Amino acid sequence: MNRHASVSVDLKALKHNLSIVRSVARQQKILAVVKADAYGHGMVEAATALTDAGADALGVAFVSEGVALREAGIEAPILVLEGARHELEVAWASKAGLMLTVHHEYQIRDLPDSLFLRPELWLKIDTGMGRLGFKPKVAGQIAARLGTRCTTIMTHFACADMPEDPLNDVQIQRFDEARRNVSLPSSAANSAAIFAFPHARYDWVRPGIVLYGSSPFRDESAADLGLLPVMTLRAPIVAINHHRKGESIGYGADFRCPADMPVGVIAAGYADGYPRHASPGTPVLVAGVEVPLIGRVSMDMITVDLSEVPETSIGDLATLWGEGLPVDYVAAHSSTIAYELLCNAGAHADIEYV
Ligand SMILES: *Cc1c(COP(=O)(O)O)cnc(C)c1O
Repeated sequence: MNRHASVSVDLKALKHNLSIVRSVARQQKILAVVKADAYGHGMVEAATALTDAGADALGVAFVSEGVALREAGIEAPILVLEGARHELEVAWASKAGLMLTVHHEYQIRDLPDSLFLRPELWLKIDTGMGRLGFKPKVAGQIAARLGTRCTTIMTHFACADMPEDPLNDVQIQRFDEARRNVSLPSSAANSAAIFAFPHARYDWVRPGIVLYGSSPFRDESAADLGLLPVMTLRAPIVAINHHRKGESIGYGADFRCPADMPVGVIAAGYADGYPRHASPGTPVLVAGVEVPLIGRVSMDMITVDLSEVPETSIGDLATLWGEGLPVDYVAAHSSTIAYELLCNAGAHADIEYV
């Protein structure tokens, strides 16, 4: 891609973060989630690193992603979190040896009778997320219909990133009610729940975001959890201009220089996955110093106040997030979550692995 912004991904940090999950969920198996191109980090590279480092299984959203992992030579168990959408996908998944989530009646109807096409199934229960899954009270009946192909029962939390939300306990109660009639290994915990709810780790945990070095919690940083940043987004400074007090910077002329100041123009913008809604003051790392974003984010450029780093030159690289600047800070300044920033930046750049 002909862009100046570059994404580097530190696979050692990814493996380190898996080891942090391992140290928290000691009794559990780990299904490492690599959907959405491993949250923008590159699905095959991330899956390879995670399985090398001992992940017990991988999670993808779609059958096509699981097939791509198999084609890349990944042999670990793979669960398709959204299951198959039609019979053809069931056949594909069986051939590729993928495990399928079953969350809806139509997926049972599409299961073939053939002995040769028998994917392993994870039964999904909706305990309060309101998205995919059967009601807890029919769990026993559905598990019986699925028979021995059904190996695991699972659910998903809506508010695990807010541990004090009462819905969490309600979901655990409903899941336990469903499990009363289904004696199968169980799985409920995403990243936040792994750390926040020891009693909801069950048999399989399903970390995603923490593997990529972001904290799911508002009041605990990634560093507090022992996590390392995996993706770093950098871009060069392509101009430094000295503006006078009162001059405006960028679209809308919203920002007016409060004093005479050097303004750095960095060659990355929303076309690179940098959030357009990043507010003035969002930190950008220049020469190891956090300098504030000023003005609106453009398509291919952002502007920063360089007053604090007078030695900076054109051509120097700025870090937009990653090593030295947590992606969670940038997300918090942009009213979004790190998940979105990582997915978007990864989708727009050629990734360099270190
Ligand atoms: C995406 C996903 C996860 C991982 O969630 P994180 O918050 O990134 O840890 C786990 N389980 C399911 C069903 C998911 O869709």
